[in-house]
Amino acid sequence: MPELLPEECDCQDEDIDILTGAATCHMCGSRRYLTTKQLDRLSDLQAEYDEYCHQLETEQQEAEPAEMERREMESHFEKHPHG
Ligand SMILES: [Zn+2]
Repeated sequence: MPELLPEECDCQDEDIDILTGAATCHMCGSRRYLTTKQLDRLSDLQAEYDEYCHQLETEQQEAEPAEMERREMESHFEKHPHG
């Protein structure tokens, strides 16, 4: 671990490797190791985020047919404004 770099910084732009528990700052290159507690919290957040992404994907897939139907109706009314 480089000694000249601060262990923590205020950049808040860290790249965290969950496997090694090492956080590297993109801005100043500062490196530090997260505590087990922080890592636990992080993997919780990661799991929540994955779940959230999965939910969004599912919602999008479900919403798509309805959206296409709506566009079809719109183009129908464009072609037949009085019908
Ligand atoms: Zn930094």
